[in-house]
Amino acid sequence: QAKHFHRGKTVLFATELADAARDRMQLLSRLRVAFSSERLTLHFQPFIRLHDGAAMGAECLLRWQTAEGQHIPPDHFIPLAEQSGMIVALGDWVIRTALRWRAGLIGRVDDTFRVAINVSLVQLIEDNFVANILHYIHTQGLQGYHVEIELTESMAAHDINSVIQKLKQMREHGISIAIDDFGTGYSSLSILSSLPIDRLKIDRSFVSGDAANQPHFGIAHTVIELATNLQMHTIAEGIETESQRDTLRQNGCLEGQGYLFSRPLDEAQFNQWLAQQ
Ligand code: C2E
Ligand code: MG
Ligand code: MG
Ligand code: MG
Repeated sequence: QAKHFHRGKTVLFATELADAARDRMQLLSRLRVAFSSERLTLHFQPFIRLHDGAAMGAECLLRWQTAEGQHIPPDHFIPLAEQSGMIVALGDWVIRTALRWRAGLIGRVDDTFRVAINVSLVQLIEDNFVANILHYIHTQGLQGYHVEIELTESMAAHDINSVIQKLKQMREHGISIAIDDFGTGYSSLSILSSLPIDRLKIDRSFVSGDAANQPHFGIAHTVIELATNLQMHTIAEGIETESQRDTLRQNGCLEGQGYLFSRPLDEAQFNQWLAQQ
């Protein structure tokens, strides 16, 4: 009887898995159509220097609004794009679009203003990744220092030597490298110290809440100290309150990003934001 019961559960579970797989396939084919019919756009979220509020750059974030007006968040479709390999073409488009946007800002922002681009490991390990990005930077009349690449800690799990080579190559051309969502992954400290990295981006889970009064913030403080010891900088994401901003600044965090300063903006909104600075 126990066996029967178990078999019944297994069948049900298999059906659910099949449903989930079919849903993912459908979403992926919709994503393909959306990409080829130019329904994907980039939004731009500024990040600022905490001590004086100066705009230091902006992060590019993918947006997908369906023909029916539904907004599908990147956390839903990026993993699909990664698993299917589509992220290579999609990510290439993101890079070209981001750089064209940054080129359009020349003369309107400080020369040090960085365009921060999220890059997935699947893209980075492509043979031509570094050559392509350098080519696009050159084509747009930009310099490497105009560009920051955001990578997550998961890269530590892969062929670390080839990753390090690529990061070094990019840094030789002035591109800066940030580790995104820092503290949520599981890279070892020994790997971290051997990576050519400029910035740790403190995950918003360590920033949110009442900054002064919660244990999470102790982690943010520890990340700032770790970065200082490794001669890296920090940027905090998800800053929503003045108290969070002040506590981070007092603890030595240089830069921040979050709804307190600005939500991610479309190009026109970003221009308005810039005009108000
Ligand atoms: P991320 O790179 O860590 O981006 C920060 C996320 O936090 C964004 O979510 C942003 O809208 C959100 N955020 C910013 N400030 C605040 C705040 O004050 N409070 C709260 N609650 N949230 C805030 P979004 O746009 O939904 O993006 C989610 C993730 O999708 C990104 O996380 C990134 O990992 C991925 N992603 C987005 N665009 C791209 C892309 O072009 N390529 C790749 N590979 N991944 C991307
Ligand atoms: Mg990011
Ligand atoms: Mg992040
Ligand atoms: Mg995050």
